[in-house]
Amino acid sequence: MSSTTTGVIKLHPRTGDGRLAARLKREIEGEVLFDAWSRGRYSTDASIYQLEPVGVVIPKTERDAQIALQIALEEGVAVLPRGGGTSQCGQTVGHALVIDHSKHLNQVVAFDRDARTVCVQPGMVLDRLNAWLKPHGLWYPVDVSTSAQATLGGMAGNNSCGSRSIHYGNMVHNVRAIDAVLADGSEFEFGAVPADLGKFDAPRGYLELVRKIRAIAAREAEEIEHRFPKLLRRVGGYNLDMMGGAGHNMAHLLVGSEGTLAYSKRIHLNLSPLPKHKVLGVCHFPTFFRAMEAPQHIIKLKPAAVELVDRTMIGLARGNPEFKTTVNRFLKGDPDAILLVEFAGSDQHEQLAKLKQLVELMGELGLPGSVVEVTDGALQRDIWEVRKAGLNIMMSMKGDGKPVSFIEDCAVPLEHLAEYTDRLTRVFEKHGTKGTWYAHASVGCLHVRPILNMRADGAQKMRAIAEEASAMVREYKGAYSGEHGDGLVRSEWIAPMFGPRITRAFEEIKDLFDPRGLLNPGKIVRPSKMDDRTLFRYKPDYAAQKIDTVLDWSEHEGGAEHRGDGFAKAVEMCNNNGHCRKFDAGAMCPSFRATGEEQHLTRGRANTLRLAITGQLGPDAFTSDELYATLDLCVSCKGCKRECPTGVDMAKMKIEFLHHYRQRHAMSIRQRLIAYLPRYAPWAARLRRVMNLRDQVPGLAALSESLLGFSSKRRLPKWRSDVFTESAPHPNPLPAARGEGETAGASHLDSLSPGTGESQRSERGGRARVRGQPVGEVVLLVDTFNNYFEPENARAALAVLRAAGYQVHLPRAQDSARPLCCGRTFLAAGLVADAEAEARRTIATLKPFIDRGVPVIGLEPSCLLTLRDEFISMLPGGDAAELALNAMLLEEFLAREADAGRLRLKLKALPQKKALLHGHCHQKAFALMPAVERVLRLVPQLEVETIASSCCGMAGSFGYEADHYEVSMKMAEASLLPAVRAADADTLIVADGTSCRHQIHDGARRNALHVARVLEFALE
Ligand SMILES: Cc1cc2nc3c(=O)[nH]c(=O)nc-3n(C[C@H](O)[C@H](O)[C@H](O)COP(=O)(O)OP(=O)(O)OC[C@H]3O[C@@H](n4cnc5c(N)ncnc54)[C@H](O)[C@@H]3O)c2cc1C
Ligand code: SF4
Ligand code: SF4
Repeated sequence: MSSTTTGVIKLHPRTGDGRLAARLKREIEGEVLFDAWSRGRYSTDASIYQLEPVGVVIPKTERDAQIALQIALEEGVAVLPRGGGTSQCGQTVGHALVIDHSKHLNQVVAFDRDARTVCVQPGMVLDRLNAWLKPHGLWYPVDVSTSAQATLGGMAGNNSCGSRSIHYGNMVHNVRAIDAVLADGSEFEFGAVPADLGKFDAPRGYLELVRKIRAIAAREAEEIEHRFPKLLRRVGGYNLDMMGGAGHNMAHLLVGSEGTLAYSKRIHLNLSPLPKHKVLGVCHFPTFFRAMEAPQHIIKLKPAAVELVDRTMIGLARGNPEFKTTVNRFLKGDPDAILLVEFAGSDQHEQLAKLKQLVELMGELGLPGSVVEVTDGALQRDIWEVRKAGLNIMMSMKGDGKPVSFIEDCAVPLEHLAEYTDRLTRVFEKHGTKGTWYAHASVGCLHVRPILNMRADGAQKMRAIAEEASAMVREYKGAYSGEHGDGLVRSEWIAPMFGPRITRAFEEIKDLFDPRGLLNPGKIVRPSKMDDRTLFRYKPDYAAQKIDTVLDWSEHEGGAEHRGDGFAKAVEMCNNNGHCRKFDAGAMCPSFRATGEEQHLTRGRANTLRLAITGQLGPDAFTSDELYATLDLCVSCKGCKRECPTGVDMAKMKIEFLHHYRQRHAMSIRQRLIAYLPRYAPWAARLRRVMNLRDQVPGLAALSESLLGFSSKRRLPKWRSDVFTESAPHPNPLPAARGEGETAGASHLDSLSPGTGESQRSERGGRARVRGQPVGEVVLLVDTFNNYFEPENARAALAVLRAAGYQVHLPRAQDSARPLCCGRTFLAAGLVADAEAEARRTIATLKPFIDRGVPVIGLEPSCLLTLRDEFISMLPGGDAAELALNAMLLEEFLAREADAGRLRLKLKALPQKKALLHGHCHQKAFALMPAVERVLRLVPQLEVETIASSCCGMAGSFGYEADHYEVSMKMAEASLLPAVRAADADTLIVADGTSCRHQIHDGARRNALHVARVLEFALE
């Protein structure tokens, strides 16, 4: 086997790989991906490295995976098993056939509740397993921060460790057995082995392996005693120290072996009872040093976790919209560092007593009154979320200097922790950098990443710091790798840490298992150099092409000398941490949730874009059909804009891409029909009898599918005769002076009774609602969809605003030919020039209101929020920025007024006592759901429950398109539709998004209402 890898990336098929691909395609059911684009997407993990795999297999069955393994080995091709690909050290990249288990091989295979054991396939994600176990009162307690992405196969591969390892141990302490396949094709259950092998009934090959491993361990006993750190957190090298003769577990040799010894087919785990009660003490420290002196004392109280968060991290969390509120709830003053100390168990009194002891201890340490006691479970969960997001929060730093993981998890005995962190901080300073400290203080394993520029002098500094850090760790008898493993960045350091004898013993073990060196080569033994830049993501010749961008990316530009590189820098913000692979809380990323595919994941898209704009996918990749396909299922939900820890905004990137793509590729008729809808809407509404025929005449829907690509399984929105603006006042380009009363002619709109469609028009009681002086003026901006397809929503909003006493302006453009438009449909098609024209027209019309700071209120989240988002990307600064400050959704406005005590809205109880609310993705992305809930709760006695849903799957026109129908329904079925179906008939289903309401109707046969209509029903 070659001892080094050459990292020059060539993202094109190589000779011989064609045969391998052909064999795989013939013999397995799952997907075989050998194209340059797929391989590019699998060439990175959460490390600094990038290596092109030979190809990728996504096995459908266990048999598939084994056949793929066998074929690759027969062809002499290396194999690299993969889970979430969240490894930080480069374990999951290599010139090999990648086998990705996460899509299909993710099931529980066996469960014994009494014995508290479970057997899982390697692609099972930890959070999913724990959700599955929860009803049984059990959990798998190796609670890694990446619990929503990390697979049990990957966790076993890396010997992962959780925040509560001081109580539960690492992976190696919780894996019972592994069903493994070896490089020669033999398959054994690796598990407990008795001391006396004479009585051990096992296959001959396995027994032989056990004997040889035991012999190596016995031979090296003295060296093991001398060289292996006596620490819980030690995950470097192979676990030879656990292979002693007095009975051992062979699975423990595979744990932490990073796929270099065997392929894990199934993993048997020991489970723990879920702790019934938890309390948390947040200990505040005036200096970092004192925080580092404390854990050695705190652990005597037997906490379940002691986790550090330092000043930088606190600051970053405070500046992060997702975490700000939580931080302010548990933080007192301005500490230099805090320690989160958790006590957990079955007896609440015991936990509370321990919390008291912690308070006393902190007093004895000279810090009385420094503990914030948190007993509320929900707040505890929120605090842990902030801690878990620590690294991701830190990675949100913009610019070329990034926190780099290479000494991030060294562990030292607690008595040296303060001195070690102090000395290492000074090493950073010497090299002109700094690091942020956080994480597992209980076990002396603190995370720290010095900030380095890996495109400039980062590699040299990395080596210099690593040299000093490893010497220091050796001096303290610590572990150079205390959590993340070896991979490409740390395997080189096994020799200096463990010495030549143990290094040779590791090679011997590797050769026993994998004589041809085909299982994840280059990791743990016979490694490459950590600073070999040819293996880096940013190789010496890395350069992004200059793109003449149509949107404003200046916030990412790296200073004046980097003018114009903002788009590339924004794309490069993705550091591959895999957070977008989460599936439970939040909205990101619906297309991945529906497909389970890397291509349809924010990370996969960002990587593909990065490879495309840096020429690694061939010329013109940036405007190619392959890139279009990569972005095709992105529903522009903006989930990533808010939830990606580094702020990757794929919806915006998609617009930029589509703009460039459109320069080379014509649009289809369907795409034109959708994009230009706001322009032809006035005459389409007039021709509604013809326009609506598609869903009335049998066969026309099918024809529209075959000719235009609209799914025949959907009804299209119906053009209405009672269009809102047709009956609205006309014209009113300039605002009336404050207090002059209603905009001319608007009042007859009041006459529409709540909830009516065109057939229920009434002339009742319009003007009666305008009483006395208006309390203020607002602009109601009615979007194309509510205007032409659901005008009752606009009427409801008007009625509600008037009932609350506002003077409502309904401005029209000077040309007056058609209503104002946000340009959303143009943006979705990449027609940025058209969208910009709409933005200019809207801004020009609203200018008098903008100048006077009049709130501009909208109903359709995706439309109104375009004014706050894409308008300023297209027209940065000036009036667009001013408008963005004043543009708000109806609920935001009403909630604001209610909070300020100004809202004069009299509402009565409704016959329905419950509202089930589905938030539009953009409402979630802009953190507006609390406002929506707040406003619904203004209705007396109305109980409001929000569905924990991601995107509804309709996403504008996406779900109407025949090629997207299936995936659209899958997105909806993930959580939204089951929740709606489960609601009883008396429950109001509420959704502000036009397309969300259609999806709910199509999928669950329930009519959902806009919040404006719920309020209108409740008007006194
Ligand atoms: C933001 C962030 C926070 C993190 N926090 C933690 C933390 O708190 N604790 C911690 O321990 N780690 C942490 N990690 C590292 C990483 O998430 C964990 O190591 C995780 O367990 C890896 O799981 P995965 O599914 O992504 O594995 P992958 O990265 O896909 O694989 C990991 C290794 O396992 C091998 N492997 C996978 N499947 C098999 C199989 N079937 N057979 C044999 N070998 C296999 C792979 O080849 C690879 O060597 C963090 C990483 C990030 C980016
Ligand atoms: S897109 Fe964001 S969340 Fe996803 S891997 Fe990249 S940085 Fe992480
Ligand atoms: S915008 Fe939505 S669908 Fe697109 S990548 Fe981001 S989270 Fe995924």
